[in-house]
Amino acid sequence: MPDRTILLGQDRIPRRWYNLGADLPLPAPPLHPGTHQPLGPEDLAPLFPMALILQEVSAEPEHEIPAEVRDAYRLWRPTPLIRATRLEEALGLRAARIYYKYEGVSPSGSHKPNTAVPQAYYNREDGRRRLITETGAGQWGSSLAFACSLFALECSVFMVRVSYDHKPYRRVLMETYGGSVVASPSDRTEVGRRIRAEHPDSPGSLGIAISEAVEVAAQDPEAAYSLGSVLNHVMLHQTVIGQEAREQLALVGETPDVVIGCAGGGSNFAGLAFPFLRDKIAGADIEVIASEPASCPTLTRGIYAYDYGDAVGMAPLMPMHTLGHDFVPPKVHAGGLRYHGMSPLVSHAVNEGLVRAEAYAQLECFAAAVQFARAEGIVPAPETSHAIKSAIEAARRAEESGREQVIVFNLSGHGHFDMQAYADYFAGRLADDVMPEDEVERALAAIGGFPKPPAAVV
Ligand SMILES: *Cc1c(COP(=O)(O)O)cnc(C)c1O
Repeated sequence: MPDRTILLGQDRIPRRWYNLGADLPLPAPPLHPGTHQPLGPEDLAPLFPMALILQEVSAEPEHEIPAEVRDAYRLWRPTPLIRATRLEEALGLRAARIYYKYEGVSPSGSHKPNTAVPQAYYNREDGRRRLITETGAGQWGSSLAFACSLFALECSVFMVRVSYDHKPYRRVLMETYGGSVVASPSDRTEVGRRIRAEHPDSPGSLGIAISEAVEVAAQDPEAAYSLGSVLNHVMLHQTVIGQEAREQLALVGETPDVVIGCAGGGSNFAGLAFPFLRDKIAGADIEVIASEPASCPTLTRGIYAYDYGDAVGMAPLMPMHTLGHDFVPPKVHAGGLRYHGMSPLVSHAVNEGLVRAEAYAQLECFAAAVQFARAEGIVPAPETSHAIKSAIEAARRAEESGREQVIVFNLSGHGHFDMQAYADYFAGRLADDVMPEDEVERALAAIGGFPKPPAAVV
């Protein structure tokens, strides 16, 4: 019997990150939220250290990973690539083989420390003492709190209210790593106080929490802001996932036909997919799929336009697929996928025809997650269930066509802190929340008057 689990030695932790931006036509630039002029590195300097800003605007195809970051990666990397033999059996597959890259082995249980660690490292190198951020489901906040503990930085987290209430143990995990946490919208910021006055019952959103974190970070010269997804440097750091997976598949003589990740802000998807997109750009025949919730269908039903990265226009205008910065998604359990926008690089890859997006509703994703857990043993995060659903659908298509196919998906995190979501699913308390059509009209109105990005600037 061939091995189910494909492991790499720690000497195989990648030495460089891969920048997909270098291999695509130049995208439209981000714009200053006030002036609508292209953003310069100096505009971002209050919020980020220069090393990260230079990665953000880089045209270099590769960036060397600092030795201290590689050393911290050794706490959990390389992560295993696992052949889902028991899921294949449960599905009765004959033509399709399914592999998953398991990022749940990291300290905080997801892919997010892959970027939290280098962000903390570059901030410490820059002399900053405190990182401020937001978190949706709590995955990012706990990853950054962990990374800050490695580099002796303070960590303050604005946690989206609905998650703060539903996921108390994520908050305790952040506190265990030394982070401090407040529910957003909060009374600590002007933005938070204004939103609470208008909507006392606001469940919060990632966009609102970002506005609060940016407001605080911009006022404190010793602090910097840190974002767990969406930005180019985050996509860059995550590419350790796909580079390892590529090498692991090669070890067992496989080449992928389908590569899948769930997409909230785009980072775990990009992390697995971008190194394979490099092969695709060079001529490889690979289908690359981003899987998102039908309740927050940014890529499948959003508009490609300039929009704010946050809720109120403190963050830059970015060219991306968006549902409008004022979109407050329904309280679905995949908290990490409740973001109105999308990574500009992922959006760009979709426009270039390199990536296709799919949307699935909450109940069918939980059904797929439970089937996966009962076959493979790992209980996936609700976010990850979208990738699993997409992988099962890709396997079905392979079976129907009779074509032998290798399907690889990113198991972005485990669901051990999400058992309430599973409890609600088993008790029949979850519903499918598909975004209504008039929401698209509202999104269009929200971005009316902003400049329009060309699909690509060659
Ligand atoms: C945060 C998170 C996501 C969504 O964020 P991306 O930037 O789209 O990857 C997906 N899965 C898990 C487990 C997460 O924690």
